[in-house]
Amino acid sequence: MNRRDFLKILGLFALSPKKIYAQKNKSKEAVIVGAGIIGSSIAYELSKRGVKVTLIDKNVPGSACSGSSFSWINATYPKKPYSYNLFSQLGINAFHIIQRELSLDIKWNGSLEWSLSIEDQEKLIESVNELQSYPKYTPTSVIGYKKAKKLDPYVDFKGNENIIFSKADGAIDPKDAISKMINAIKKNGGSVLYPCEFEKIIESNDSFSKIKTSMGILKSENVIFCNGIDIDKSFNVNFLKKPRPGVIIKTKPQKSLINSVVYGPKIHAHQQTNGQIIIGEQITAPIKENSRDHLKRINRHFKNMVKGASDLNPLEILVGWRPIPKDNLPIIGRFKNKSVYVAVMHSGISLAAIVGNLVSQEIVDEVDSLLLKDFRPSRFF
Ligand SMILES: Cc1cc2nc3c(=O)[nH]c(=O)nc-3n(C[C@H](O)[C@H](O)[C@H](O)COP(=O)(O)OP(=O)(O)OC[C@H]3O[C@@H](n4cnc5c(N)ncnc54)[C@H](O)[C@@H]3O)c2cc1C
Repeated sequence: MNRRDFLKILGLFALSPKKIYAQKNKSKEAVIVGAGIIGSSIAYELSKRGVKVTLIDKNVPGSACSGSSFSWINATYPKKPYSYNLFSQLGINAFHIIQRELSLDIKWNGSLEWSLSIEDQEKLIESVNELQSYPKYTPTSVIGYKKAKKLDPYVDFKGNENIIFSKADGAIDPKDAISKMINAIKKNGGSVLYPCEFEKIIESNDSFSKIKTSMGILKSENVIFCNGIDIDKSFNVNFLKKPRPGVIIKTKPQKSLINSVVYGPKIHAHQQTNGQIIIGEQITAPIKENSRDHLKRINRHFKNMVKGASDLNPLEILVGWRPIPKDNLPIIGRFKNKSVYVAVMHSGISLAAIVGNLVSQEIVDEVDSLLLKDFRPSRFF
């Protein structure tokens, strides 16, 4: 999707005219709970628009799910229905914009995905056909191993003729992005407090919410909860599935081996511009095993997938816990009253930039974005 289409779609869907409140002159404020990629992006966009933001985290920013993510930015076929897929496509475009603003480390070399069994390959092709039936979709084609080899010469595609090439995909360094967003928030006059834990809501109505934190009481006309897997605990609700863990290995910087995001039969990998290789696995982390077991297992798969690779030299072996909404769709919007807002989702890396953009628009302009209408928390109560 080009920039003109992106802006046209944002314009088309941006405003629900029923809900425009005239309050433009009052300077706004917001407390954002959780400095992962979602909270940081929302706080960054709000601070850009002159909102006085306070971003808090009970830990170091980026140290939870976002810091242990595979960090592939995509709008591929598992993103359905169409409203979710379109939202993800806009997510890619929104990242191009903030990449320029913040000099983010994102490699836009596309992704290559393949499977071994004929049955799985047929399923992949079916999914691509489904994706291509949408009114708009990211460029996706089926290519053979010879073409794929030109894109990623070290990867062993094992003669596969059904490789899905999604040209628009990228991969980001999320910790670097969060740190750049936080610097910009501070530059724009915002505060970032950690360790500062949200404990409970003391009082909440349409005009303001007062919350108790480990650093004292904070009162704001907007309190935005972006605290990932802890969201259910904060409100005593049942928005999320049981979080699913995944192992991520981040290697020390090394010679260039991987160009695109490569999603093979057992593992997936990409290489950042600083030379670090990031590797994840398709399986849920066997959490009974330790880091050494994870390394041994993933090392074996990696050497099988990348020709000439030596043993992995890990900088970090992480287990990340995914916040997965009950119906797999993002949860974004006001919760119970006007001063409380929630934003929690899986694929939060892919969506962070567009979520920051649209949530800040909803808060500052006091409108309802039609692009978010399928993702409201109200569907759960
Ligand atoms: C292994 C793995 C691979 C993944 N791969 C991808 C991928 O390739 N592409 C993609 O788009 N997504 C991927 N995801 C999902 C994605 O990483 C998450 O959706 C995203 O990071 C969620 O970001 P977040 O900011 O909502 O949550 P988090 O990063 O978890 O941030 C929440 C923050 O809230 C803070 N917090 C919690 N409770 C409190 C409290 N009471 N007070 C104050 N602070 C609090 C936490 O300390 C944390 O910093 C992956 C996830 C995993 C685990």
